[in-house]
Amino acid sequence: MADRDDHVHDVLVVGGGPAGSSCAYWLAEAGWDVAVVEKKEFPREKTCGDGLTPRAVRQLADMGLEGALAGAHRYHGLRSIAFGRTLELEWPTVPGFPTYGYTITRHDLDALVCERAAKAGATIYQGTEAHEPLDPSAPEGPDALAGCAGAVVTTKMDGAPSARRGRYVVVADGANSRFGRALGTSRDRNYPQGMALRGYYRSERHDDPLIESHLDLRDANGAVVPGYGWVFPLGDGRINVGVGLLSTDHRWKGLNTARLMDAFVAQAPRSWGITPESACGPATGGRLPMGMAVGPRTGANTIVVGDAGGLINPFNGEGISYGYETGRLAAAYLAEALSGGGSESLAAYERHLERAYGEYYRVGRAFVRLISDPARMRLCVASGMRSRAFMAQLMRIMANLMHPATPGPAEVAFSGMLKAADALERLGWGDRSA
Ligand SMILES: Cc1cc2nc3c(=O)[nH]c(=O)nc-3n(C[C@H](O)[C@H](O)[C@H](O)COP(=O)(O)OP(=O)(O)OC[C@H]3O[C@@H](n4cnc5c(N)ncnc54)[C@H](O)[C@@H]3O)c2cc1C
Repeated sequence: MADRDDHVHDVLVVGGGPAGSSCAYWLAEAGWDVAVVEKKEFPREKTCGDGLTPRAVRQLADMGLEGALAGAHRYHGLRSIAFGRTLELEWPTVPGFPTYGYTITRHDLDALVCERAAKAGATIYQGTEAHEPLDPSAPEGPDALAGCAGAVVTTKMDGAPSARRGRYVVVADGANSRFGRALGTSRDRNYPQGMALRGYYRSERHDDPLIESHLDLRDANGAVVPGYGWVFPLGDGRINVGVGLLSTDHRWKGLNTARLMDAFVAQAPRSWGITPESACGPATGGRLPMGMAVGPRTGANTIVVGDAGGLINPFNGEGISYGYETGRLAAAYLAEALSGGGSESLAAYERHLERAYGEYYRVGRAFVRLISDPARMRLCVASGMRSRAFMAQLMRIMANLMHPATPGPAEVAFSGMLKAADALERLGWGDRSA
């Protein structure tokens, strides 16, 4: 029944990455008829730093998957390096979150979560690409998502177009989101965007207990660049090495990320053994739409989650957890919609996003703007690195591991940052891209 072309699922999810699979899991778990169309076949490669923070681990645990991470590399904190200083910071103890993260390739992780959704009852159509919404004549503007209840798809097997239908459609097709754009979503170019590149290397330090970030990333001429370089140990003989850069830097268009990566590889501590000989293959990259940059995120029968909605954390480029979280949130509002709430329930999803992430992402965008000037970036990082206590609180803010019910230094500092961000916005120093 479920694989007949004319079957109408309660929900059709386009994309089986973190956002789509989490949404499908929570819907299936609640007993709804949900199907995912995923153009690739799991396990599949996905360009990523492969880092899971305590926020992401919490979501995986809630999906009953922490046991499945037993083979992944558990790490306990962050080693920050800049301007000749090194600080080792453990993940903080925050109610509701573990004090550790994991690194695991997306090849393995995404297959696990998608399989979990299938076990909960979701139908997964792998090797099936959604090309366009069923109703391509949807009107333009804020109601652009109104006319759709399904997708025209092709499967790898025969390549012939057919349709998959749902009473509601979830757009979870990632950063490039062609399907979302066909429905009328667009990125606000005034918001920052990240660009990152990563490669795998063999390393004797593959099971280091800390992930490492280098906050004094430099271009080929030695000038500090807004962004950071990372070394994430994978525990399987390899390390994930990458560089991330922000679009608000005025040199964004001129900067070649491959050269930046070469410069970082030359700058990284030798003990990691990062050399052309230890490389496991060429580096690959991608875009990071952040700070709630993409909208509209709801329509009459459509809802946008994860990277397709520009929901990456601007502070640190983390997107996996926000994919899981927004997929889960969308599932709750879709269940309300299916229970009679209709499109009004979907509109409530957007209001919930604003409540849950609006302020945090506003401050994140202001932070990105602040550090996008190389001189300011240098000043902030060089002064911050002098104080371990300061960096420990900043790490809590940047990883969104605050606990408003028991305010400590991080929560107090964040409310100050919010006031400053709002004041700067009033002075016209708000979102704008260089
Ligand atoms: C270099 C780099 C490093 C990063 N490092 C980290 C990190 O360490 N930690 C972290 O938390 N985040 C990281 N991110 C961000 C993270 O990868 C994303 O935020 C996350 O993958 C978002 O999940 P998603 O489900 O929204 O999208 P995706 O993971 O992109 O999943 C989308 C899925 O949809 C499928 N799809 C696309 N189009 C269609 C279609 N038309 N029909 C059917 N299927 C389709 C794709 O095949 C894919 O499986 C990094 C990003 C980059 C580029």
